Amino acid sequence: MILDTFKLDGKVAVVTGANTGLGQGMCVALAQAGAKVAGVARRSCAETAELVKANGGEFLEIIADLSSSEPVERIVKETVDKFGRADILVNNAGIIIREDAIDYSEEDWNKVIMTNQNVVFFLCQAFAKQYIKQGEGGKIVNVASMLSYQGGIRVPAYTASKSAILGLTRALANEWAKYNINVNAIAPGYMATNNTKQLRSDEQRSGEILERIPAGRWGTPEDMMGAVVFLSSSASAYVNGFTIAVDGGWLAR
Ligand code: NAD
Repeated sequence: MILDTFKLDGKVAVVTGANTGLGQGMCVALAQAGAKVAGVARRSCAETAELVKANGGEFLEIIADLSSSEPVERIVKETVDKFGRADILVNNAGIIIREDAIDYSEEDWNKVIMTNQNVVFFLCQAFAKQYIKQGEGGKIVNVASMLSYQGGIRVPAYTASKSAILGLTRALANEWAKYNINVNAIAPGYMATNNTKQLRSDEQRSGEILERIPAGRWGTPEDMMGAVVFLSSSASAYVNGFTIAVDGGWLAR
């Protein structure tokens, strides 16, 4: 039956940036759909662990700093050691540093590109190797942005990295579909999380943004839940290399 294809019972999901915001919401969604969840974060994921458990799930906390690719192999290993396998990778961790492009420092540029782009690629590679070893395919869901499509203002490195995610998602989907690995992405619109705190506190920019969103509100972590479960499940078996916008209609305008 169709709803059964959305179920993730017996699957193991790894979500980066699991301690807060969209990552936390996606952990809860995957647990509700039946997956065991490994949450990767720099700091404790206690709140997420509680939420996952309250939703009937099992949770593994993996402490790792994704400002370099150094912890990548360990993340796969800790997941497999605990749960015996890996089936779903959600590359959610990301940073944004705002500054006029004319003054943007090389240090800030490298920080953003490293976490949002380089580490994402090496996580995809490491998990794809694990999926190939297991021989049953797997799912990768990257988190893109409206700035995968648009230029943005005062966030040149973020825009470059999120535009790269859209292309990388296509590139990896092409190479790995033959292994039954689906690589797709979700492009959130303007969501009320830490990532947009600064933006939301600027009354003028905040008003301009809200006025342009057809749905008339900022998005929430709950808004990501349907898309992440779909792209993590066999319901999306023939969806490859696509980025789904969850944006209240922002891109449609
Ligand atoms: P957030 O700032 O609350 O979450 C970012 C997450 O990434 C946090 O869990 C943080 O701990 C983690 N992270 C950052 N640097 C890390 C590092 N070095 N090592 C380990 N973890 C690290 O904001 P969010 O909105 O929940 O962002 C989640 C994702 O969604 C990000 O990739 C962000 O770019 C993307 N996104 C957010 C919006 C939005 O409007 N909020 C829009 C489009 C895309």
